[in-house]
Amino acid sequence: MAEHFRDDSVAAVAVRIDAEHPNGAVFDPHQPQLRITDLGAIRGDGIFETMYAVNGTPRKLDAHLARLRRSAGILDIGIPPADSWEAAVGLGLEEYRARGGVPEELAVKLVATRGVENEPASEDPAFAGTYWLMLTPVAESMRTNRGKPLAVTLLDRGYDSTAAERAPWLVLGAKTLSYAVNMAALRHADANGFDDVIFTTSDGQVLEGPTSTVLIAKAGAEGEPPTLITPVLETGILPGTTQGAIFTAAERAGWKLGYGPLTPEDLYAADHVWLLSSVRLAAPVNRIDEHELAVNPELTGQLNSFLDQDLPVNHPVD
Ligand code: PLP
Repeated sequence: MAEHFRDDSVAAVAVRIDAEHPNGAVFDPHQPQLRITDLGAIRGDGIFETMYAVNGTPRKLDAHLARLRRSAGILDIGIPPADSWEAAVGLGLEEYRARGGVPEELAVKLVATRGVENEPASEDPAFAGTYWLMLTPVAESMRTNRGKPLAVTLLDRGYDSTAAERAPWLVLGAKTLSYAVNMAALRHADANGFDDVIFTTSDGQVLEGPTSTVLIAKAGAEGEPPTLITPVLETGILPGTTQGAIFTAAERAGWKLGYGPLTPEDLYAADHVWLLSSVRLAAPVNRIDEHELAVNPELTGQLNSFLDQDLPVNHPVD
């Protein structure tokens, strides 16, 4: 283990994977690691996943690794096998234990880039790129803001609902490192007094948030559970693991589920709307532009307790 930089003030743990260390090697995240010619750094040509680990157990690990592989397939980037990633996550957790304890809540980010142009790191395509993961304690502000209702603005993503099918080179639906647009949308929202964004297509369909999946609920009849609806994946949105895990648990609990081409009007008319993501969990929305929405803390709590069950995800296109 990397004694030379062990330091309790270093909150993050980083692990790289390469052909010599297929099960990972701990490194110091405060020291330079990446070559400046890495295509992940200079072109955003890479993919990532962000998982949530509670008390040292990553949630939805298989679903995240499956989605990493799916993104790698869409971008044609070779990545190490699932066993390597799993072992590397285990090594990162072990490093925390060696430092005195695993933080209760961790964000675990897995990154794979195409590596350096014309200089594969290995002849084995599964190790030809650059691979690392980083474990970081979830910020106190995130923990205390969970459940706080969000004011959201709808922003045009600039393509229509058929773009994913028509233009596969847009790599829609892959979780790529090219998040500059997503971050710009969040800054635009913030500058206009909003907390978050829901993207729409140019022909008026609801897509997703810059870092989240949209979920709506329609109340059931008296004594009946609500129906949960999320946008169809065919528009090129990311298949959300949080949404998928909620759907599995909700279905087991006898709730009705639906996938819609959703429009802004469907959001305004919904009984409740949430933005879902692995670390923030189910975040209730109480305003979409000038439309007020009711929040239901009990239902939000129920969705989050579904996530505590850590069930396999349910997607129509797995
Ligand atoms: N959509 C986008 C664009 C995202 O970046 C994310 C997560 O960061 C999600 C949806 C939600 O995915 P998950 O629930 O798997 O975290």
